Amino acid sequence: MSDTRKKTMMPFAFFEDKIIESEKAKISIAAHSIQYGTTCFSGMRGYLRGSEIRVFRIYDHYERLINAAKILGWDFQMEFDKFQKAISDLIKANKPKSDCYFRPFIYSEDEELTPKFKGISYDMAMYMIPLGDYLDTSRGLRLIVSSWKKFQDASIPTKAKAGGSYLNSSLARTEAIRYGYDEALVMDDNWNIVEGSAENFMIVYRGEVIIPQVGSSMLEGITMRTVIDILKEQKIPFRFEKIDRSMLYTCDEVLLTGTGAQILFAESVDDRPIGNKSMGAVCKILRDEFSKIIEMKNTISNKWITKITI
Ligand code: PMP
Repeated sequence: MSDTRKKTMMPFAFFEDKIIESEKAKISIAAHSIQYGTTCFSGMRGYLRGSEIRVFRIYDHYERLINAAKILGWDFQMEFDKFQKAISDLIKANKPKSDCYFRPFIYSEDEELTPKFKGISYDMAMYMIPLGDYLDTSRGLRLIVSSWKKFQDASIPTKAKAGGSYLNSSLARTEAIRYGYDEALVMDDNWNIVEGSAENFMIVYRGEVIIPQVGSSMLEGITMRTVIDILKEQKIPFRFEKIDRSMLYTCDEVLLTGTGAQILFAESVDDRPIGNKSMGAVCKILRDEFSKIIEMKNTISNKWITKITI
C-alpha cells in the first residue's frame, strides 16, 4: 500500500504526560474516541516573532477545553499549569520555524463497545502543525448558505467543540467546495444563520455589527470574544440578534472569525454581492486592531499573549 496520507504534524507531541515523537503517539483502533468521536478539542495559534512564539489566549483555550469535558460530563481534570507546561515543552522540542497551531484534545482510549461516557477514562494529548493563512485573507470569500443545518444544543452540546460534531462542519464545508465556493454558513433549526463551518460569523447592518446570540447553536469562539472587546474599545455599536437570510443578503459586511481563519470578509453570499465586494470599514478596523494585539502594540496584549522562548 503506498502511503499517500496527508501528514502535517511537527516531530514531537505531548502524549500520556510526556513529550514523545509524534510518530509514536498511537492509540487503539478500538478506542472509544475512534469509534464514537469521543473527543473535545481546542485550537490555538502561536506567532513566531524573533526567537519566541507568542501564544494567543492560552488560559481561555484551556478553560473552554475543561468546560467542554464538564458539559459532556466526562470524568477529567487537568491543572492549568500542566496545560501551559505542555505547550512550552512542545515549543522547545519542535522549534517551529513559522507561525504554528496547537491542537490540544481530550480523548478516551478505552476499548468500550457501549456509547456511554461513564466508566471510561480520559487523557489529554497535544500536537503542533505549521500554520499560515488557513483561508485566503487577501480577498473576500465567496460563501454559500449550506443545505446542512447546524445541530442544536439539545442534540449535541454546541459549546463543547466535540470531535464527532465536526461531521456537521465537514458536510457543510464539502458542499461549499463541491459547488466551487470558499466556505459555507450554516442555519439553525429556526432558519437563522449562526456560524461558518469552522468560524463564528457576524454582519454589519444599518451601521451596527450584529452577532448571532451566544445561546443560539454556536460555538463561543475566542476570536469572536476578542472582536467584541475590540468593538467595545473602538466604540463601534454592536448587538446580539437573530440574522435571517434577507439581512444577510442586504448587509454591508459579512465577517468570519476564528483561530484558523482570523478575521475574514465575504465578497458574496449565494452569489449576491456584499457591499462593494472589497474589505469594509469595520473589517479593516478589526484586522488592524487584532494585529496590534499580536504585535504587542496594545495594552491588552500583555493579558492575552504568552511569550515562550524557543
Ligand atoms: N465555530 C466553529 C464551529 C469552529 O470550529 C470555530 C473554530 N474553533 C469557531 C467557531 C471559532 O472559534 P475560535 O475563535 O475559538 O477559534
